[in-house]
Amino acid sequence: KPQIVWLRRDLRMADNPALYHAAKAGPVVAVYVLDDERPKDHKLGGAARWWLHHSLESLGKSFGARNSRIVLRRGDAVEELKTVANAVGAETVHANRHYEPWWRKAQGELAEELELKLYDGNYLFPPGHVTTGSGDPYKIYTPFSKAMLQEMPPRDEVPEPETLSSPGEWPASDDLGDWNLLPTKPDWAGGLRDFWTVGEDAAHERLDWWSDEVDKYDDGRNMPSVDETSQMSPHLHHGEISPVQIWHRFKDKRSDGWKTYEKELIWRDYAQNVICQFPAYPKESYRDGWDADMAWRNPNRGHIIQEELKRWQKGQTGYPIVDAGMRQLWQTGWMHNRVRMIAASFLIKHLLIDWRHGEKWFWDTLVDADYASNGTNWQWVSGTGVDSNMFSRIMAPLTQSEKFDAAGYIREYVPELADLPDETIHDPEEHGCKPDDYPSKIIAHKEGRERALEAYSEFKN
Ligand code: FAD
Repeated sequence: KPQIVWLRRDLRMADNPALYHAAKAGPVVAVYVLDDERPKDHKLGGAARWWLHHSLESLGKSFGARNSRIVLRRGDAVEELKTVANAVGAETVHANRHYEPWWRKAQGELAEELELKLYDGNYLFPPGHVTTGSGDPYKIYTPFSKAMLQEMPPRDEVPEPETLSSPGEWPASDDLGDWNLLPTKPDWAGGLRDFWTVGEDAAHERLDWWSDEVDKYDDGRNMPSVDETSQMSPHLHHGEISPVQIWHRFKDKRSDGWKTYEKELIWRDYAQNVICQFPAYPKESYRDGWDADMAWRNPNRGHIIQEELKRWQKGQTGYPIVDAGMRQLWQTGWMHNRVRMIAASFLIKHLLIDWRHGEKWFWDTLVDADYASNGTNWQWVSGTGVDSNMFSRIMAPLTQSEKFDAAGYIREYVPELADLPDETIHDPEEHGCKPDDYPSKIIAHKEGRERALEAYSEFKN
């Protein structure tokens, strides 16, 4: 009998347990359903849609090379899978487990209609694999990470299927182009096209490059001017490569760089572990009172605040490091982690705007926009989360910029400042050399910091 493979964020041939087991059981009908209803306010953002188009195109070619194909359907995921299963006479759906609340719900509903075989494919270990002494899932990263390291190695990789046999008849499929995942007017994706090569082969090429670089990761990862992070996040998010494949590639390394990198992969698992416990985490502050009682200056409260949010989004805050990050995000769909923290902190603390406005913008503009990782990190920066920085710890963007040697980075993304020397580029306004075409600071650092601390102290009382 034909076997359905339900593809989601696992767009790869190799180390894809659902595909591997389906191929062993019978002819494979791989299905991708574009379901914009179930995720509600977290339907795929613009940059992720761009990535998805290219990833499906690339994986479609890999299936084609094996005389197979991906069936594309649009609509409710469960209904579409049922229709496809009916059309080909399939009774079994194979899928890698996903943990976003809408996917968990869909998995439950599907299991009532068809035989659903779920596999662990996208994480080092499934969430809940490690537990505290009392058997509860971990809430805090550090003990979670220690427990995870004790569990290594993760599962073995599974090979890509050598052959894929076809069903007697193929069910109807949409044309990818008709999904309009790519922007048309305006075409804002030029920078993404220049920056990224999408797909499973590209993910492995990047891993080849990274296999030498990873040893330098410990020193280089905080320096936005140098290329010392893997930039694997969109490949990992869309499942073009699995963290298990990366782990096995590097397992014999002993460098501090690899040890630190391994812990970053564990952060990714940790984020899933958090949303499994708190499914609304990317939408609601975990700590009580923050959403209702904190005096956020929210954009629906007035024109000026809306303007400030826009200036942040467009990289026009007058803080070069923040602006470089926000422009990198807009141009490439990605931002360096250190700068994500600085830009997020600036929005939440200096502008005193609710972290959820930032989460939303990142969701729409990141090619790696991930329900769990985005939500967990925003709540970490804002100090509202289960395991988080304190709100009162306010990053000083100018000091951070100098400390992490962002001059080259600023030159690249804020061309108005490109001619300034290292000594003044981090804060041209202060040094009296701000070019006319670069904005003044929205708010002085000291003033922003004091306003945030005051709001926090009122909130606590
Ligand atoms: P590397 O430094 O090379 O790390 C390797 C991999 O580890 C990454 O690809 C990623 O999968 C994982 N990882 C690293 N740091 C984290 C982290 N803090 N949390 C979870 N996983 C991590 N990451 C996303 O994948 N999607 C998001 O939507 C996202 N939103 C973020 C929002 C904010 C406000 C902040 C501060 C961070 C966010 N991150 C997110 C985490 C981190 O910034 C990115 O994973 C990282 O910058 C990706 O670049 P890289 O692949 O070069 O990372």
